[in-house]
Amino acid sequence: MEFNTKLLHGSSISKNPNREILPPISQVSAFRYENMEELEKVFQHRSMGYAYSRIGNPTLSAFERRINELEGGVSAVCCSSGMSAVTAALLAVCKTGDEIIAGSGLYGGTIDLFHDLEKLGIHTVFLDGLDSEEVRKAINEKTRVVFGELISNPSLKVLDIPAVSQIAHDAGIPLFVDSTSATPYIARPLSLGADVVIHSASKYINGGGNSIGGVIVDGGKFPWDFEKHTALEEFKRYSKRAFGVRLRTDIWENLGGCMAPVNAFLSYIGLDTLGLRMEKICENADRLAKALNEIEGIKVNYLTLPGHPYHVYVEKELSGYGGGILTFRAGSKEKAFRIINSLKYALIASNIGDLRTLVIHPASTLYIHSNEAEREAAGVYEDTVRVSVGIEDADDLIKDFTAAIENSDTGGYI
Ligand SMILES: *Cc1c(COP(=O)(O)O)cnc(C)c1O
Repeated sequence: MEFNTKLLHGSSISKNPNREILPPISQVSAFRYENMEELEKVFQHRSMGYAYSRIGNPTLSAFERRINELEGGVSAVCCSSGMSAVTAALLAVCKTGDEIIAGSGLYGGTIDLFHDLEKLGIHTVFLDGLDSEEVRKAINEKTRVVFGELISNPSLKVLDIPAVSQIAHDAGIPLFVDSTSATPYIARPLSLGADVVIHSASKYINGGGNSIGGVIVDGGKFPWDFEKHTALEEFKRYSKRAFGVRLRTDIWENLGGCMAPVNAFLSYIGLDTLGLRMEKICENADRLAKALNEIEGIKVNYLTLPGHPYHVYVEKELSGYGGGILTFRAGSKEKAFRIINSLKYALIASNIGDLRTLVIHPASTLYIHSNEAEREAAGVYEDTVRVSVGIEDADDLIKDFTAAIENSDTGGYI
């Protein structure tokens, strides 16, 4: 089955008892049982069943099964947000005294989380772009996980998953990949060598900009060494599934970051059109990037532009697509603001992955608390404009951005 057919008819699609085509929203806190013996069995994991929605809920399970199938994993857990997914995934493998190796140019919330983990005695070594040789040198006896984003935003660096996972695996370390900007339509990190995939479902997976969510998928292939990964020691008997089991029955349950059933439903129906949306979004982004790059004085950063430093990965890892995010440098902050303010269709909003084109000036918003070095590592300058391209008609977007840029020279507004 190709992607869209699998999405709609894959083995994970629920056969609902009342023949509903979509999973019903089980908007309940708890589930009742006929007798105590039955509930006891559920608590002992001796029989399948739901007890309490923080620990499991049929709407969440339907969404988890579907994303698990798309990513090719063995189990998935959905979370209240992308940040709650990143937190749970890392805390499942790290203890005080352990180290994480992470790329630079990561999502701001993730960088802040690494600073929080520092206070718990979990140290992060940040590398520029996760070059495989640098990773090899940075791995030491305390390293427990290598963490990177497949396509960083807004710097648009691509993680070389086959090379980096090889080096991590040689040292007995798993690779966790945040694939939010790539989506399962563009890339399947597990098939490239990653061990765990994380998404903020708030972005492209939901796609309609109507709920916050996150998801973690376990590839189930990593040969855990329980003397090194002592955080998983109690789950030794699950062998290669130890991470997934610890995550679900321990860390995720106890952190309490479950997804709301209605958000799982919204993310589930968002997924229905993931393939269609990504196809259109990537085509629009490619056309807009190429058109804006022709304008004098405008420097565009987009993966499919010839000469982009990560261009080769478009074919190697991203199925020929460049994703939905592009940035351009306007020349000055003032000019960037004038362009943004005069756009007719792009909404000024701090989000990505919506159906609608969204635009923001990252230096004065998302990176307001970062220093200059951190901003440059993230590809953010005083004059950078970030565009999360939507599904409008490409010709309209091109006209809108071109007019906004041309008018910005005179300070005029349309
Ligand atoms: C948005 C985002 C997150 C955080 O997700 P939330 O759903 O906002 O908590 C993590 N990683 C990446 C790459 C993101 O874009």
